[in-house]
Amino acid sequence: MKVFNPLRSAIVLSGIAVLVASGTAYADTSVTTATTSVASSVEVQQIRNATVKIDFSGTTFLVDPMLSPKGGFPGFEGTYRSELRNPLVEMPFSVDEVLKSVEAVVVTHTHTDHWDEAAQQQIPKNLPVFVQNEVDAKTIRAQGFKDVRVLKGTTTFNGVKLSKTGGQHGTDLFYADPERAQMGGSVMGVVFSAPKAKTVYVAGDTVWRPEVDQALAQHRPDVVILNTGSALVSGFEEHPIIMGKQDTLQATKAAPKAAIVAVHMDSVNHMSLSRKELREFVQENKIRDRVMIPEDGEVMKF
Ligand SMILES: [Zn+2]
Repeated sequence: MKVFNPLRSAIVLSGIAVLVASGTAYADTSVTTATTSVASSVEVQQIRNATVKIDFSGTTFLVDPMLSPKGGFPGFEGTYRSELRNPLVEMPFSVDEVLKSVEAVVVTHTHTDHWDEAAQQQIPKNLPVFVQNEVDAKTIRAQGFKDVRVLKGTTTFNGVKLSKTGGQHGTDLFYADPERAQMGGSVMGVVFSAPKAKTVYVAGDTVWRPEVDQALAQHRPDVVILNTGSALVSGFEEHPIIMGKQDTLQATKAAPKAAIVAVHMDSVNHMSLSRKELREFVQENKIRDRVMIPEDGEVMKF
C-alpha cells in the first residue's frame, strides 16, 4: 500500500511560505511537460478565514470572499465572543492583490463571514459568481452582479468541473429548532476537478455528515479543505456549527490518501478552535504529516 507522505518542504518566498505537497501517492502523475503543467497545476492560497484562492488547472477562483478591514462589522449576535468585531485580523494583502487574476467567485452561502459588504462592493460586477441556490442568486444579483450562476449537480467553467456537494451548518439537533435552523440556513460545498489535475474538495460550513462521506466517496479528492474553527452559538456550545479537531482527525481516516487543509480559524468572533490548538492536536494524534494548517497568505501547491 502506498502511504501518503505529503508535505513539507516549506520555502519562504518574499514573506510567503510555499508549502509543496509532493507525496509518493502522487509520484506517478507529477511528471509534467510544458504543455501539461498548466493543466495539472493546482495552487491553494489561504487568504483569511474561509476565503481561499484556488488556481486550478489554469483558472483562478476566489472562494467565500470576506474582504473587510479588521473590525469592519460587528460580532455575530448570539454567538461566542459576540462582543468582538469582525474580522479579528487584517487580510495579508490588499483587496486589489486578492482580486488579481480572479476569474470566478464561489460563494458557498451568504453569511457575512463568507460574503461581506466589502466583497459585494469591490468584486467586479461582471465576474461569474457560483452560488448554491436561487435564493442566494437573487440576493447577489440584487447587489449588482450580472453573471450569477446556480450550481446544480455539475457545471463546467473554463474546462474545470465544479460539482456541488451537500452539508449542514450545524447538527440535526441544532436544526431541530426553527429559529436556529434559520440562523444556520442552507450551505454547499464544491469539488473542483479536471482531467489532469488533483481534485480539490471545499467542504464549506458544515459539520461532519453523510453528505461529507458521500462527497469523499464520489469524488475521491486529493485535497480536502475543511472549515475547522468549531464555531459556537451561545447556549448551544456542545453543538459547534462547523467542524473542529475531531472532524480533522476523521478526515484523515475517511480520506486516507488526501491532504487535509484546515481553514476558517482565528479570523471571526465565534470560532472556538485556533490554529495553535489544532496544531497541538494534530501533533498529539500523529497526523501532522496529513494536515496543513496554513497561515494567512500561504500558498500550497499540489
Ligand atoms: Zn463561516
